[in-house]
Amino acid sequence: MSLDSSIERTIKLVTLKNALEYDGKAKLEAVISKTMASRPDLRTNIKVIIPEIKRLLDQVNSLAISEQKTLLQEISPPAVEPEKQVEKFSGLPELHGAELGKVVTRFPPEPNGYPHIGHAKAAIIDEEYAKMYNGKLILRFDDTNPLNERVEYYDAIKEGIEWLGIKPAIIKNTSDDIFILQDYGKKLVTSRGAYVCRCDQKTIQMLRSKGLECACRMDNNSYEQALVEMFAGSFEPNEATIRFRGDMTSLNSAMRDPTLFRIIDGDHPVLGTKVRVYPTYDFAAPLEDSLDGVTHAMRTKEYELRNELYNAVLERLHLRKPVVSEFSRLEFEGLPVSKRRIKPLIENGSLSGWDDPRLPTLIALKRRGFLPEAIRKFVLSLGWTLAEAKPPFESLEAFNRKNLDEHSMRLFFVRDPIELRIKNANPVSVELRNHPSSNLGSRSVRVNDTVYIARSDADRLSEGSTIRLMELYNVKITKVELAQDIGRIYADMISTNLTHSIQKIQWVAYDDKLPYKIIIPKKLFSNDKFNSNSLEIASGYAESFVSNLRLHSSVQFVRYGFCRIDNSQQAVFTHR
Ligand code: ATP
Ligand code: MG
Repeated sequence: MSLDSSIERTIKLVTLKNALEYDGKAKLEAVISKTMASRPDLRTNIKVIIPEIKRLLDQVNSLAISEQKTLLQEISPPAVEPEKQVEKFSGLPELHGAELGKVVTRFPPEPNGYPHIGHAKAAIIDEEYAKMYNGKLILRFDDTNPLNERVEYYDAIKEGIEWLGIKPAIIKNTSDDIFILQDYGKKLVTSRGAYVCRCDQKTIQMLRSKGLECACRMDNNSYEQALVEMFAGSFEPNEATIRFRGDMTSLNSAMRDPTLFRIIDGDHPVLGTKVRVYPTYDFAAPLEDSLDGVTHAMRTKEYELRNELYNAVLERLHLRKPVVSEFSRLEFEGLPVSKRRIKPLIENGSLSGWDDPRLPTLIALKRRGFLPEAIRKFVLSLGWTLAEAKPPFESLEAFNRKNLDEHSMRLFFVRDPIELRIKNANPVSVELRNHPSSNLGSRSVRVNDTVYIARSDADRLSEGSTIRLMELYNVKITKVELAQDIGRIYADMISTNLTHSIQKIQWVAYDDKLPYKIIIPKKLFSNDKFNSNSLEIASGYAESFVSNLRLHSSVQFVRYGFCRIDNSQQAVFTHR
């Protein structure tokens, strides 16, 4: 088989990079998995591709390191500009200790809010690795705090994941295993790996900061009795916890006898009120990962200090330890993802809901016109970074624009419309193409002697200037009557021949106008404060044809930007 040149280039790039990492000798397994990561479309053809990879790998490995370097420079892509980044080679690094066919990853959200762009990053990476190694992905709802979790959020997360095109092999809840987790907890106390602590929170904090043990930890007589009482419901919340017997003097404060179970009275979405003793994240996460057969557990960097505890809990219970690794949190500049910051704004009405187009939630990005394919490409273009990632929002836009371009009709919208009367115009019907190159049909518009143009265009006109009304004809301005928010312009039609040098503007025919609004989301936070001007509304006229568009489809308003149809009278601005 002869490879298409872009595939060959990808393989060479991957191979050269890998060779230069390993003293000039690229490793076959690594090159295969990286190639598949950057070109998932090749997976269906894997039998044909592998011999080609071998061939190119042999070629590369037979070169001297200096020759490899030169070759890499020749074929590697130029440094990143946002638009070009779309084409940038990207790939996730190999997973430590991964075996083809045996990798199990999991995405473990807590159903305490709507999923956002950061969750998309985690879920996409988890899924990409599962695919890369022919393994499987588990979607696990980490639902062990009934005070935070709601059925609405489980559903929102499931929908978000589905929208991203992610197909977990298994969907489960941590709460499904609540009694198994409780049993392990009891076992840990019985084997003295943990203890029931009756100290109040203040005392616990004080002893923790001083590195001192409490009396409960040292209790040799009644610890089993306390355990029975804890599960029999004898204690109120805050009267007892189960704590790991860690090391109160450890430099890693996560090891200073962290809480593994606490009592919570709440109505759990799955368990109702029958359970009161809930594991903490520090206990539930390692246990679930281990028991579910997860081989590679990835989480965000802020958990790094908890890795020691994660491993210690499993060791003490003689359970298998998954490989744990971290990646950076993703959020956009000026657009925090934290529920702590978003929830209050929804509650006080500053935002209209989780789908307010200013938010980085998946449901808002969708409403705004972002495509799941673009989000995936964007996330993968960031690769596996450990540094705090706060890319500008524009870098996601670049991916989306590329995906929207050929499928979106190009129609006219004029903001703050101004009437333009054309004196000597004959009534005409024009047939306008809905897209210059894609086959998206056409529309016919009747024009008498008056059209509307956008205020921003009108402002630049003066007597004597010439403009072209796109796809219609040229006019010469004879009179401009513009006041603060009203006005009219008069013109003569001059010639139907296109003159390249004159300004072309969009218009809406007098009898074809559809009053229309465009919601324009702006940065939600500026200087770390809620930006009260974060939602702009543009009013004007669209062509009546816009009312034929399918709800939620994308459109490109010419010289304005991409928008997504929100209802029959309004669209949401996607990006330019
Ligand atoms: P939040 O602060 O929004 O509640 P979280 O970390 O508590 O975020 P979880 O629902 O517990 O959210 O997270 C599920 C998974 O998604 C975890 O593995 C977490 O590391 C990952 N994750 C959460 N936020 C981000 C982010 N901004 N960037 C990358 N991954 C994230
Ligand atoms: Mg959380």
